[in-house]
Amino acid sequence: MDASTFENILQNYINFIESNKQELILNIVWHGGEPLVAGLDYYKKMMEIENRYSELNKDANIKIFNYLQTNATLIDNEWINFFKDNKFSLGISLDGPKYIHNKYRKFIDDNGTFDVIIENIRKLQEEHVPIGILSVITKFSSNFPEDIFNFFVDKLKIKLIDFIPCFYNNDELSPSSDDLSRFLIKIFDLWYSINFSCINIITLSDIIDKTINWHYNIEQPDKYICEFSGNCGRNLAILSNGDIYPCECLVNVGSLKLGNINQNKIRNIREPRRKIFLYEVKGYG
Ligand code: SF4
Repeated sequence: MDASTFENILQNYINFIESNKQELILNIVWHGGEPLVAGLDYYKKMMEIENRYSELNKDANIKIFNYLQTNATLIDNEWINFFKDNKFSLGISLDGPKYIHNKYRKFIDDNGTFDVIIENIRKLQEEHVPIGILSVITKFSSNFPEDIFNFFVDKLKIKLIDFIPCFYNNDELSPSSDDLSRFLIKIFDLWYSINFSCINIITLSDIIDKTINWHYNIEQPDKYICEFSGNCGRNLAILSNGDIYPCECLVNVGSLKLGNINQNKIRNIREPRRKIFLYEVKGYG
């Protein structure tokens, strides 16, 4: 994404938030592919732009938070200093202990990426960079909930974990709904058997919150991940060319494109298009 497109995002959002008189918080999730291949200089330049917009709008007290989803293979000390200086929070793609992670995640020379990632996680933890784990559940890994849970919680001392099923429509890779249910139920039992309030397993925490709220008839749709909120399209996905989609999962579905950040105002597309999206997306559900 070039600098002018990024500036359009910031200006557009600031206008949108101001016109809605909302709290001026903008959460940016840098996502790929692998977002670190853009290089450190690229992100330094983007932070200069963010800081300039924060300064320009300092009366409005805008707060910009940066998150980044990475495979953690490219992280070095320079990156770590950058993350600290700019208060980034990282999501790290790690599927479990070595025999699980390396089964599918390999460098181009066919060596697994596990050792590099673990070394980098340790460095990030030593420097207190906030991290969470995003773990993809495959058909294979769904058989090992205990190993995965113990590895993340006991060995790595991770406090924020999310599990997502592998969606390749491929029977060898993708867990069936039964595989996934069995996996999550076992993870829940393991989580429940420890001091579970200290660890956020996002999907399970949301199921519990939603169940409690349902029991007490409390509506808090914005509190949950989108799958449980009934509120698709809450976080816009903006591609490098500025095209806007209601969700990163649907960026290849042309009919769901909401507009382009270089041509449209978010306040003009967001609500009306979201309603159309909610109707259209049923066909993909
Ligand atoms: S389509 Fe996207 S926004 Fe909707 S529930 Fe799925 S992940 Fe969330």
